[in-house]
Amino acid sequence: MMDFEFSEEIQMIRAQARRFAEERIKPLVDEDEKVHRFRPEIVREMGELGFFGTIIPEEYGGSGLGGFMGAVVISEELARISASWGLPINMQMMGPAYTIYKFGTEEQKQKYIPKLVSGESLGCFAMTEPNIGSDVASMKTTATKTDKGWVVNGQKTWISNAHVANVGLLYAMNDPNAQPRYRGMTAFVFEPGNWPGIDRRPIEDKFGLFCAPTGELFFEDAEFPEDAVLGEVGKGFKIAMTQLDATRLSCAARALGVGQACIELARDYTLERKQFGRYLADFQMVQSDLAEMYAEHEAARMLVYKAAWKRDRGERATFETSTGKYLAAESAVHSANLAMKILGSYGYSTEYPVARFLRDAKSYQIVEGTSNIQKMIISGYVLGRRK
Ligand SMILES: Cc1cc2nc3c(=O)[nH]c(=O)nc-3n(C[C@H](O)[C@H](O)[C@H](O)COP(=O)(O)OP(=O)(O)OC[C@H]3O[C@@H](n4cnc5c(N)ncnc54)[C@H](O)[C@@H]3O)c2cc1C
Repeated sequence: MMDFEFSEEIQMIRAQARRFAEERIKPLVDEDEKVHRFRPEIVREMGELGFFGTIIPEEYGGSGLGGFMGAVVISEELARISASWGLPINMQMMGPAYTIYKFGTEEQKQKYIPKLVSGESLGCFAMTEPNIGSDVASMKTTATKTDKGWVVNGQKTWISNAHVANVGLLYAMNDPNAQPRYRGMTAFVFEPGNWPGIDRRPIEDKFGLFCAPTGELFFEDAEFPEDAVLGEVGKGFKIAMTQLDATRLSCAARALGVGQACIELARDYTLERKQFGRYLADFQMVQSDLAEMYAEHEAARMLVYKAAWKRDRGERATFETSTGKYLAAESAVHSANLAMKILGSYGYSTEYPVARFLRDAKSYQIVEGTSNIQKMIISGYVLGRRK
């Protein structure tokens, strides 16, 4: 359905990811979705296959093969089978490993990156708080300097992997009175299950992404060592934005995967089901729905690939990433809606995965910056107020 010209390397990476998704994940999806099961062993298998090493150099356990485009096609292929299983690309590589690689000390890089890349450690990143989502710079969690290191107090919520992660990125205010506020934020590398003063709870009740754990983190006089600071004190906001530029990209790719799954399912169904003596595929209104799904999806795909291509050339791609993420999220939700319409009552059943596609697609309008936040970024560039 797609004739974008990829290098042989990217084609091989895509083929490997598709095989893994089809052979390893697909047989588990229905049962695991029912009981909301997360399987750490799958993360390790992905690590062994090199899925978390495309933008990480060999000296830290990666391969550097495939780059951002590699991460995008892997995310797409995994999410085409299960959106939940697209998440580890972010939780391991695009979030913690890449951000530590960009900003960490040599010691932090050696200590944390190889285990994230191999899947031996599970990663997370914690920005969101009960009262702070989109307005990241207003976060309330504090990190206070002491003689021994740092004391952290506050709460983070809706954190993917919160209660299973061994290592994570935490964003907290070292100077809550700083003006502008973002200058008072610092990033830390922390060990959620290991360091004193950190409590973790899963969020059990959620709308979708049932096989991807989500939880809360509570910091009560949590003690962080001096060398937990990532980058410079007071530069946390910049680090958070750099991280989002990467995690947002693979999130957009996951939305593409879900959109693709919706198109394939709807197409196959219309070629099999007959009403009024004709295949659904022969009704113009159904054809119109399929054409809409495809056109929006393909446009989103090209935008996401453009962003990855720019990143692989060493260029910034905030504008392209936000544009791609916005359209990929919106088109995934639209495609899931139309797929459900096309499948009629079967779409509304659990016999077909359309309800799952719709539930999972909705997450992309929220995570890594909501669709409104993406539109704010996009319009900022269109108006020339962002460069
Ligand atoms: C499944 C899942 C996994 C997640 N994983 C993580 C994670 O790993 N780490 C993490 O830190 N967070 C995570 N999050 C949290 C997610 O990033 C936030 O939910 C998201 O940033 C939005 O914040 P909010 O939910 O507080 O919404 P709010 O910021 O309260 O926004 C509510 C609504 O108001 C709109 N709005 C807000 N401000 C504006 C504005 N200025 N202009 C126009 N509209 C506006 C928003 O677009 C949205 O529609 C996850 C969330 C989910 C659902």
